[in-house]
Amino acid sequence: MKKTVSLILAALLLMCSVGVAFAADAGETYDSFGAYERVFIIGIDGLGATFDMVDSPNFDRIFADNAYRYDAHTEYVTVSAQNWGSILTGVDYTTHGLTNDCCEDNERTSADENNTIFYYARQAFPDAQLVSFNNWDAINHGIIENDLGVKKINRGTDPLVVDAILKYINNEKNDPKLMFVQLDSVDHAAHTYGGFSQQYYDAAAKADVWLGEIYDAIEARGFMENSLFILVADHGETTDGHGGQTKEESSAVLAVAGHSVNATVLGENVQNRDVSAIALYALGVEKPAHFISVVPEELFGESREKTVEPNPMKRATKLFRKFLYLFVRMVNLLVGIFDK
Ligand SMILES: [Zn+2]
Repeated sequence: MKKTVSLILAALLLMCSVGVAFAADAGETYDSFGAYERVFIIGIDGLGATFDMVDSPNFDRIFADNAYRYDAHTEYVTVSAQNWGSILTGVDYTTHGLTNDCCEDNERTSADENNTIFYYARQAFPDAQLVSFNNWDAINHGIIENDLGVKKINRGTDPLVVDAILKYINNEKNDPKLMFVQLDSVDHAAHTYGGFSQQYYDAAAKADVWLGEIYDAIEARGFMENSLFILVADHGETTDGHGGQTKEESSAVLAVAGHSVNATVLGENVQNRDVSAIALYALGVEKPAHFISVVPEELFGESREKTVEPNPMKRATKLFRKFLYLFVRMVNLLVGIFDK
């Protein structure tokens, strides 16, 4: 009898310990798969690593307590369609085969290979609002499938695109599951004046203002409590635009904000196309097996309250780097003048 009681007690003790162990385990690992109701992807064409030199108070306040990297890798070919294609389809540019010309000329449907994240979002959420705002309408025309019921809004200038976005978000009837935006004036400034021109930096600073306006509208709707907000670029710029393999062209800004996003600088292997994997993961949509884009391991952690004010030390460091950069450029300029 004594032996039976001991055995029962031992068994109970074992069951309790296993239960406690499982509970502790569940508490420690926070899984962000499906932890978000919405994903907003703000794409800024041509916003490369030199954005780090631009005074960008909105970027700083939105992403300071979140995850970012100024020089995420782009596709090997630093052209817009190749990169927006990969950002939206999760495969590399040779696999999706999209080019600027073919996106402008050909409409894409869900019957085509290498579907975009809009296709997978539509499969998972048949009635959800999916929306895409373009300045360069080749993305809406030739990358995002035309038979998914994605609301596509094309405007020929960035102020008009931003206007349309704000109107859409401010309308209480609208609650998008997945929203994509492409703004173009930063890239345009690089093509016209060069990627190291004052006009380029001014355009990037203006894009930061729009980023803040879009974020604030989303926040004002109460959406940021359970939305993921992503900023991504297709490529950077050099003196005469992009398309080559210089460090400047091959680096693009990538930043992610959300309640379970860690305050971290993303690892040096992160790619701009990882946005596709991140977006599906956040929405709780299984990543298709053929995707090569990945969710960076360091991206998600515990769900927590976010601070909106940027860390003053980070800001001071950034201002100092900007000062150094301008100083070096000035010295180079003076050396150039005295050499003549
Ligand atoms: Zn581009």
